[in-house]
Amino acid sequence: MEIKKVVVIGSGTMGSGIAAQLCNANIPVVLLDLTTEISEKARERILKSRPPLLIDKSKINNINVGNINDDFKEVGEADWIVEAVVERIDIKHNIYEKIFKERKSGSIVSSNTSSIPIKVLSEKLSEEEKKDFCITHFFNPVRYMDLLEIVKSENNDLNKINSLKKFCEKDLGKGTLICNDTPGFLGNRIGVYAMQVAMTEAFKMKLTIEEADAVFGRPMGIPKTGVFGLYDLIGIDLMADVLKSFIKELSENDEFQQVAKEIPLVKKLIETGYTGRKGKGGFYRMNKTDNKKVLEGINLETGEYSISKKFNLGSEKMDIVNLINRKDKYGEYAWSVISKIIKYASSLVPGITDKFNDIDEAMRLGFNWTKGPFEILKEIGVKNFFEKIDSFENNKFLENLSKTKDENFYGERQLYTELETLGKIKPKAIKIDKNNSAEIYRFNDFNIVEFTTKANALDYDSMDSLKNATDKPLIIINEAMQFSAGVNLSYTMNFANKGDFRSIEKFVRYFQETCKHLKYSKHPVISAPSGLALGGGFEVLCQSNFVVSHTNIVVGLVETIVGLIPAGGGCKEMLWRWSQTEESKNDPDYAPLKVFDIIGYAKTATSAIEAEPLKYLKPEDKKIMSRNSLLSISKEILENNKEFSPPKECKFKLSGKPLKEKMVKLLEKLYNDKVILDHGMEVGKELANVLSGGETSVDKELSEDDLYKLELEAFMKLIESNKTQERIKHTLATGKPLVN
Ligand code: NAD
Repeated sequence: MEIKKVVVIGSGTMGSGIAAQLCNANIPVVLLDLTTEISEKARERILKSRPPLLIDKSKINNINVGNINDDFKEVGEADWIVEAVVERIDIKHNIYEKIFKERKSGSIVSSNTSSIPIKVLSEKLSEEEKKDFCITHFFNPVRYMDLLEIVKSENNDLNKINSLKKFCEKDLGKGTLICNDTPGFLGNRIGVYAMQVAMTEAFKMKLTIEEADAVFGRPMGIPKTGVFGLYDLIGIDLMADVLKSFIKELSENDEFQQVAKEIPLVKKLIETGYTGRKGKGGFYRMNKTDNKKVLEGINLETGEYSISKKFNLGSEKMDIVNLINRKDKYGEYAWSVISKIIKYASSLVPGITDKFNDIDEAMRLGFNWTKGPFEILKEIGVKNFFEKIDSFENNKFLENLSKTKDENFYGERQLYTELETLGKIKPKAIKIDKNNSAEIYRFNDFNIVEFTTKANALDYDSMDSLKNATDKPLIIINEAMQFSAGVNLSYTMNFANKGDFRSIEKFVRYFQETCKHLKYSKHPVISAPSGLALGGGFEVLCQSNFVVSHTNIVVGLVETIVGLIPAGGGCKEMLWRWSQTEESKNDPDYAPLKVFDIIGYAKTATSAIEAEPLKYLKPEDKKIMSRNSLLSISKEILENNKEFSPPKECKFKLSGKPLKEKMVKLLEKLYNDKVILDHGMEVGKELANVLSGGETSVDKELSEDDLYKLELEAFMKLIESNKTQERIKHTLATGKPLVN
């Protein structure tokens, strides 16, 4: 079955998200709603969405809109029809009746329902029609959430389901799990249960919301929104609806019922309009005092708000074993929550799936957990777990494991996909080195470097690993969300606070040396980024010999925001790329002025497609929808480049002083228009000095080393200035830029 055209019915949050992702994959899609006006508005919403649902605005041309009365004939031309209308069974049944009258034979029809069982959705269909009907449960926002659950019934033609799965994996880039028809499928069944346990235990143990979020967050390998933050994000009212549906669908003795009971404070929050971030606030709220925005947190006992103070648990690194062994209430809370999640998830095997591995993947793909419950159990250790746990009656999985005590019960990872992913390869590869910031694996005849810091921020150790790994062909790739958010600013500020600028200089020099090494070592180096590739992260990727990029990357040189300039070769590399253009042949200032604009404004691209016109990516760099394919495509490149020879060194001809003056004029205009302030001017001048080549003239040739030197000088001048340090401190404390 080939999918060449799709009709999506219902153009709300999910329908428009699914349609946008189909556009991204260049699949023509027709979006239908009750009226053309509604679907037209949805198209406009897609164009304006933030973060953008489209990888490039031009992709919108793949969408046509219409209404379900005049344009229903479109259904007859579609290979796949996705229903994403409101969660009402009568409306859905009516639509299926129309679809099955109109559709062409063999086309597949699916619903995006999150809570209605397939047997209820399809109860009015004939046996023949049931063959082609399934649930495709996408998560919001569709472009960014990796999980897709395909729920099949016993009537389905499995070949067809499998080819839909392949299409969704490869073309739409989704981690696709095939699920049984059970309430909440895999992701929500365990994910919502986990949230409820984390919440009810926090109430029971009298933790503050900040304490609970600090434990049920990064230290457990869970996103930093924690539980109460996530509740606010999803919407407290929406969560209440989800719980009602679970209470109705699940049997009375299902453990879920214990944690789904209505909590008086939650009821009161909903009734008073405190439905979360979209409402007046929720467990957290923004309050204005003296014209200043202040974050407040609720007291779970009294319901009163007071200023929210971030709770410091001591470490933000994922370390479950130490966490559950802590002899304080946080250790107790962590163990109580984790053990209940493990008990519940394992009690559902084989009921909801015979592959426990899929439950972990659902949590990883749909809730961005680093490890799912079974991998957490493996990390705790089977022996330790059973020494600590009190009871596990009616749980076949745990009863069995308690007998075998098999520490290697887990087996392979990511069984849901046939693709050769990093997750699958890691357990088979040899870990040849490891430091605080990165790990090096050897697989067959190449090396893999995976950064391991928070947001994969870079420091001396990260560079050390890269450098040490170039003794073989190298792939730089990561399982965590971000490729790299850039140089670790706290690391740099620790030196600056002590006035130890020599250590900063040493680090920048080593950064440059490493990047040069990546570019010119005798073996090919491939960067395979996904997530953020900013600042230093971009400098690593742009000085790799090949790039295999996930389409969803956010990429750019953003150093000027914190009062710095790129000094790991970013200025140099961008100058080189822009100097290869037609326009540069006649105008030596064309490239530097372009790069001045891009780096000066810290322009970022929000996809691999947007990155190309900025020259953050090259036309020949691979841009891939499926994150799971990054490793295998990188391997293919290594395979095809056995006879690799490193590139020739670049030479530059830059105009020097007259060009710098042009740039300073541009800055003066911005300064007079108050777009930039005093320090913005200083940073701009330093950037101008680098990009104009310093003390040079257009007839002189500059080497890459000359440019590295200019970058370093400018960087050091700026990092030593108080105003740059103020910017960095402000950004570290608030996550926001400081304009000074
Ligand atoms: P929504 O309310 O944002 O959009 C529903 C759309 O359906 C509206 O545009 C409405 O005009 C349209 N509609 C209603 N009746 C129609 C009809 N007879 N014909 C054509 N269009 C009709 O809803 P949503 O959040 O996009 O949810 C859609 C489906 O996806 C639901 O089944 C929901 O359970 C499921 N879902 C939602 C989410 C989520 O996070 N919002 C996540 C997963 C699944």
